[in-house]
Amino acid sequence: MKIHKNHSFQNWAQNIHLEIPYLYQPENTTELIEIIHKHQKIRFLGSGHSWNNLWNETEALIDFTHLTFEPIIHSETLEVEIPGGMKLWQINEFLDSKNLALQNLGSIDQQSIAGAISTGTHGTGLKFSCLASQCNEFTFLDGKGNLHNINKNHPHFFALLVSFGTLGMILKLKIQVVPSYQIQENTFTCKWENAIENFETWIYEYDHLKLWWLPPASDAVVYAMKRTQCPIQEPNIQNFWREKVLSVWFYRLFVKIGNLYPQLRPRINQFLTSQMRKPYQRTNKSYKIFKVAEPPVHRETEWAFPLWNYKNILTDYFQRYSDNRFTFNFIQEIRISQSDNFWLSPSYERDSLWLGIYNHWDSQWTNLLNDFQSFALQYHGRPHWGKEFNPTNFNFSKAYPKLNDFLDLKKIYDPENKFHNLLKS
Ligand SMILES: Cc1cc2nc3c(=O)[nH]c(=O)nc-3n(C[C@H](O)[C@H](O)[C@H](O)COP(=O)(O)OP(=O)(O)OC[C@H]3O[C@@H](n4cnc5c(N)ncnc54)[C@H](O)[C@@H]3O)c2cc1C
Repeated sequence: MKIHKNHSFQNWAQNIHLEIPYLYQPENTTELIEIIHKHQKIRFLGSGHSWNNLWNETEALIDFTHLTFEPIIHSETLEVEIPGGMKLWQINEFLDSKNLALQNLGSIDQQSIAGAISTGTHGTGLKFSCLASQCNEFTFLDGKGNLHNINKNHPHFFALLVSFGTLGMILKLKIQVVPSYQIQENTFTCKWENAIENFETWIYEYDHLKLWWLPPASDAVVYAMKRTQCPIQEPNIQNFWREKVLSVWFYRLFVKIGNLYPQLRPRINQFLTSQMRKPYQRTNKSYKIFKVAEPPVHRETEWAFPLWNYKNILTDYFQRYSDNRFTFNFIQEIRISQSDNFWLSPSYERDSLWLGIYNHWDSQWTNLLNDFQSFALQYHGRPHWGKEFNPTNFNFSKAYPKLNDFLDLKKIYDPENKFHNLLKS
């Protein structure tokens, strides 16, 4: 096993820098169990794509990259066994080569499957809940060094799977997959008042729906997607313009200009929105459409709100961030997901509207984060565990009805508190 002493860790967003005494890259469970017995304050590394510092005071960080095996396909049940440290892009490529696909995805593919699942990572669509819902069974190593095979009939399945490393580690997952499919994506703009008006129709009409907004533009960009078996069709020039020139080169350039001259951000945002005005349609493999061009480094908070109240929440949100109290140099995203049963999932037992704040890190960020958090609390929001929020000003047990039951499990699975974290009742 590789051991790196005094490791300097930095996450993708570069808002977390930690000096960690030991970084371990174990190759088997015997080595993992040794680490558990040797250390306190143990944390897990997927691919560092979280903003949230769930790792304070880390003594040993475990990287699962070398704890790997060739995925196993069960063709009769369309299930696949994969290592927890496998990256989503590797899983997509593997499944594609077998004409299979994941049922649903978020908007990037760099995360490890265990890291994504354990924070409640989600995509968008009223018929689709968080990525964890694709898992039928998993192997779990707890804080006492005991291995557990947990399937959906186990009483703690819905507690342990979305527990962001607070009770133990996910080593292997059995995932329900589907035959590969295409997605037809329609993009168009409309006034955000009209988007709110049509929102309910769209979420039933389309399998996947997301809105993008560049404040204070009066238009929202709508991505309306349907699953299909129609052949791949991407107009080459238009696609190159939108997916490369506009979404990557222009966008990154304008983010830089907006960083230098914040007063230009509103005009830049109006301009970028105007470039999306022409309706656009393309069809491609599911995992290619779900994935967006890798965004520039930025800060992010995202909360799940009760979907039934979407009209009030969206109206208030658009008005609140149109008044130029804050300037934005990043796309704001609005998504939805189906309710689930995971005790600590932000979508626990309620269909969710996902809203956040995405912005460059500048002097207004802390105020903006607090401003959005007070907005979110007013509408009973629950924070995404992988993204930023202020835990001191958040009543966990009010938001998560199963929190105390979850904390009771901590006494069973991690009695020495090796995987300490910020949760409190
Ligand atoms: C550019 C970008 C786009 C994103 N898009 C989306 C999106 O579309 N939808 C969405 O919901 N989220 C999104 N996220 C958030 C991201 O999916 C989550 O933060 C996810 O947890 C990151 O996975 P990771 O493998 O990097 O995990 P890490 O950030 O490394 O770890 C996250 C947590 O998982 C725990 N963990 C890691 N491995 C294990 C394991 N094997 N067993 C148990 N616990 C473990 C860690 O202890 C930690 O608490 C995005 C993030 C970025 C940077």
